[in-house]
Amino acid sequence: MSIQNDRRHLRYAVVGAGMAGILAAIKLKQDGENFIVYEKAERLGGTWRDNRYPGLTCDVPAHAYTYSFEPYAEWQAYYAKGEEIRTYFELTAAKYEVTPHIRFGCEVMSCVWQDEEAVWLLGLSTGESVEADVVIAASGVLHHPRMPDIEGLDGFAGDVFHSARWQDEARIDGARVGVVGNGSTGVQIITALHDRAEALVHFQRSPQWIMPVPYFRYSEEERAAFRRDPGLIDAIRYDKEYWANIHRFTQAITHVDGPEIAIIEQLCLDNLENSVRDPELKEKLRPNYRAACKRLIYSWCYYDAVQQPNVTVEREGIARIEPEGVRLKDGRLQPLDTLVLATGFQADRFIRPTQVLGRNGLSLDDVWSTRPTAYYAVTIPNFPNFFMLNGPTGPVGNFSLIDIAERQWAYVEQLLAPLRRGEALTVEPTMRAHAGYEERRVAAARTTIFGSGCSSWYLDATGVPSSWPWSYEAFAEAMAAPIMADYVLTAASEPVALS
Ligand code: NAP
Repeated sequence: MSIQNDRRHLRYAVVGAGMAGILAAIKLKQDGENFIVYEKAERLGGTWRDNRYPGLTCDVPAHAYTYSFEPYAEWQAYYAKGEEIRTYFELTAAKYEVTPHIRFGCEVMSCVWQDEEAVWLLGLSTGESVEADVVIAASGVLHHPRMPDIEGLDGFAGDVFHSARWQDEARIDGARVGVVGNGSTGVQIITALHDRAEALVHFQRSPQWIMPVPYFRYSEEERAAFRRDPGLIDAIRYDKEYWANIHRFTQAITHVDGPEIAIIEQLCLDNLENSVRDPELKEKLRPNYRAACKRLIYSWCYYDAVQQPNVTVEREGIARIEPEGVRLKDGRLQPLDTLVLATGFQADRFIRPTQVLGRNGLSLDDVWSTRPTAYYAVTIPNFPNFFMLNGPTGPVGNFSLIDIAERQWAYVEQLLAPLRRGEALTVEPTMRAHAGYEERRVAAARTTIFGSGCSSWYLDATGVPSSWPWSYEAFAEAMAAPIMADYVLTAASEPVALS
C-alpha cells in the first residue's frame, strides 16, 4: 500500500474473469487502480466459457444482457446464443484494456487475512504467494457441475457427460441421445438436438412451467440501425414491458397468493393447453407445484420439440444406468448411444473450494456451515476488505445478473471510498448487522414462492430459499446506499471487536 496525493493506492485481487470479474476490472481500470484478475482457465467468460451445449441461449433479451455502459449492436436475435455472449465479453474486456490484467491458468487456492499487516495473502496454483489489500470474489455461482447419484453411471458404454462439459466428439447426429434434467439447460438442449438425433429421450423427474416468449432474429439493417443510433438499443434495454415483467416476477416471488403469480401461472398453463396436442403428453408435462418455485423456463420452441416424432418425454423414474442405456423403474430399457446429464450445479460453493480465512483464522467454511451467507449479499463480518459479486443471498430469477453485479459494484465502491481516501484501512459489516439481516432474510425467504414446496437449487441444505427474498426495487435501493452504521471501519490494523 502507498499513500499518494492523499489517496491510498490499494492492490486489488479479483477472483474470476467471468461477467462480474470483468466488470470489476473495467471499473478498477477506469479508476486508475492497481489490480490483477486471477482466472483458473485459459479464457475469460465464466459460465459462457464453460457452457457450450447446443441450444445454449440466454433467456434475458440480448440488449438487456450487456453492461449498461457497453451496449452491443451485433446481437443476431432477440435472445443471444452463448457463443455470442462469450464474444461480447472478450471484445469488451479487450476494448476496456483489461485483458492484459488477467492472469490466465492461475487459480486462487487460498485467501488468508493477515491481521498484523491488514492484507490478504493469496496462495496461487503456481505456488506463488501474493498480497492484496482488497479481494473481489467474482467466481460465479453455477460453476461446479452436480453429477447425479444414479447407479451404474460409470458403466454406461456410450458417451456420458455433464452439460457444462460438452464433448464435441460425442455421438449426436443420427444417434440415440438421452438428456437427464429438465431445468433451463435440459430444455434448451432438447430444443437443439431434436433435428439432429435419430431418437431423443428427455428424462424428466419433475415437469416444468414453460413461459412462452417471443423470439425473432435481427436483420443486418436492424443491426446497422443499432450501430448508428444507440437510442434504439436503449429502447429495448429499458423497454417498459420488459421492466414491468421483472416487477411482476419479483412481486410474484414475494406474494405467493398475489395476482402476479396467478397471471404467470395462467400464461404458462395456456401455453401448455394451446401448444401440446396429445392429451397424454400434456398431462406428463403439467407441473404439480407452484410456478416460479423452480426457475421459470422461458422457451418459444420446447413444446414444438417434444412433439416431434423422434422425441420421447420420459417421466418414469430412472432405476439405474446399464451399459446399453437407461433402465426405468417400470423395467423398460431406453437404449442410448449418448447420455447428457443436465443435472445442474452445486449452487452453494461460490468462491469455494478456495480456502478463505478471515480474522483470527476464521474459516469461511465454518461461517457457512449452515448456509452460505453475506450481508446484503456482498460482505461478511470478520472478512475485511472482502467483497462478493453475485454472492450468497443475492437476487436470482429471470432477469440479468449483469444488472445485479453492476448495482453491487456501485455498493462496493461506496464502501471502498474511505479506504481510497486513506481514512480507513479496513471495512467490514458488524456481526450484529449481519445477524439481523440474515434473520430478516430467512424469515422472508421462507414465505417466498421458492419455499412453496418444490426442490431446486434455490434452496439451501436446510430447505430455506437461499436468495434475496424481497423486491427488485428493494435490492436496488439497498445497493444505492450502504447503511454505513452497519459497517466497522478501522484506521489501524489492531484487532477489532465486532459486535
Ligand atoms: P437445474 O435447474 O438445477 O436443473 C437440474 C435438473 O436435473 C432438474 O430437472 C432436476 O430434477 C434434474 N435432476 C437432478 N438430479 C437428477 C437425478 N439424479 N435424476 C433425475 N433428474 C435429476 O440445472 P440447469 O438446468 O443446469 O440450470 C441451472 C440454472 O442455470 C438455471 O436455473 C438458470 O439459473 C441457469 N441457466 C440459465 C439459462 C438462461 O437461459 N439464462 C440457461 C441455462 C441455465 P428435479 O427438478 O426433479 O430436481
